[in-house]
Amino acid sequence: MNTSSRRNFLKALGGATALASFPAILNAASSGPRVIVVGGGFAGATAAKYLKHWSPDLNVTLVEPNAKYQSPIMSNLILNGQLSLNQITFSYDTLAQKHGVNVVTDWVSEVDGVSNKVTLGSGDVLEYDRLILAPGITFNPVEGHDLDKVLHAWQSGEQVTMLKQQLEAMPAGGTFVMSIPEAPFRCPPGPYERACVIADYLKTNKPGSKVIVLDANADILVEKEIFGHAFDVTYAGIVEYHKEVVLTGVDSDELIVSTETMEDIKADVLNIIPEQSAGAIIKSAGLITVADRWAGVNPLSYESTVVNNIHIIGDSQGTGQPKAGHIANAEAKVCADAVIRLLNGGEPYTAPMTNSACYSPISSDTATWLTAVYGYDSATDSMQKVAGSGGSAPKASKNNYEEMFVWSSSLFEDVFS
Ligand SMILES: Cc1cc2nc3c(=O)[nH]c(=O)nc-3n(C[C@H](O)[C@H](O)[C@H](O)COP(=O)(O)OP(=O)(O)OC[C@H]3O[C@@H](n4cnc5c(N)ncnc54)[C@H](O)[C@@H]3O)c2cc1C
Repeated sequence: MNTSSRRNFLKALGGATALASFPAILNAASSGPRVIVVGGGFAGATAAKYLKHWSPDLNVTLVEPNAKYQSPIMSNLILNGQLSLNQITFSYDTLAQKHGVNVVTDWVSEVDGVSNKVTLGSGDVLEYDRLILAPGITFNPVEGHDLDKVLHAWQSGEQVTMLKQQLEAMPAGGTFVMSIPEAPFRCPPGPYERACVIADYLKTNKPGSKVIVLDANADILVEKEIFGHAFDVTYAGIVEYHKEVVLTGVDSDELIVSTETMEDIKADVLNIIPEQSAGAIIKSAGLITVADRWAGVNPLSYESTVVNNIHIIGDSQGTGQPKAGHIANAEAKVCADAVIRLLNGGEPYTAPMTNSACYSPISSDTATWLTAVYGYDSATDSMQKVAGSGGSAPKASKNNYEEMFVWSSSLFEDVFS
């Protein structure tokens, strides 16, 4: 990041990270209906904030086990030293102190959708009138994949820091192997972006090294021309991209991957991004109805198709919209609005729209972007991409790289400040 983009990024983040500058507003005991939000990521934190913003009398409780949120968005830039984890870490204090959300640092171990209660890890039980579940993703590893030994680094935090350390310790001329699961998964461009960022790092710091990409999909899923050009031209001789490669097993001690179609591959650093499903609490609450992995919801309200008064947003929902933080923020606002209308005896808005945006660094000073708009289609009762909407950057550029920091800091600000 150059000096001016770093200055602007930090300036914009100031609003999202200043912890002590708000007066302590007492947030307990609003007398209105009780809404519990589970999970303080892009989806859940946005929902909690906007519920209170639009309906201050609601009693809104956010349950999240971590005291701070570490963003997966922009986390690939930790791997090539462009950002530190601190710069993409956010406190929930502003949600509590400025917006009046009751923030409970715990996790939900059980959902009782019949008597409208959740049980916390501490054993405490909370009652709700409406429950919003936003627990993100869980992983379905292949045989032999020990998630603590072979990192995915797909939920930000410690795993990303550890992957960076592994890269730093890798010898020049070494082999970095990464795998991409079959779609859908969190952030469609994310793995291709990671291959580029790591190739960029290795090109400068570990000459002679290789990045081997094993993609379970039929081809590069998004921005094919840009990522294809990066693999074949910018990182020619460094990135080796293989499509339609399905993993069958991992030796987590020896760092060897086995596949259906290729010889076993030995890595110096191995980064397996496993297949994904809705967060674990969605499964234990019996809310999985889509492809055995995701929660089916009414796209107007995000209310579960199987249990009343429970809404699911973010990566866990199964509407077919991309699994990404920008659109999770939009889904959360549609859901918060619907919850307020339903609690007031009304009906959800019938023409919701959402949009998605992903910026992808290609090197330490260029980036690309991808965007799409979705709207409710009453004929299919689903969210569909609006014809002619969105698109992608014509090429990776320095300008996109600068814009990426403006875009991400305004998203972080909208969620956490
Ligand atoms: C490398 C990378 C780059 C990305 N880039 C982009 C991008 O450019 N644009 C974009 O839009 N998206 C991007 N994404 C995707 C984005 O990060 C996710 O889609 C987004 O984080 C999903 O938000 P969420 O709230 O559904 O889940 P999360 O952000 O994972 O939040 C879920 C929260 O729920 C909590 N939780 C889970 N279970 C429980 C429980 N039982 N009780 C209480 N709390 C619980 C967790 O602790 C967590 O804090 C990227 C992702 C990666 C990995």
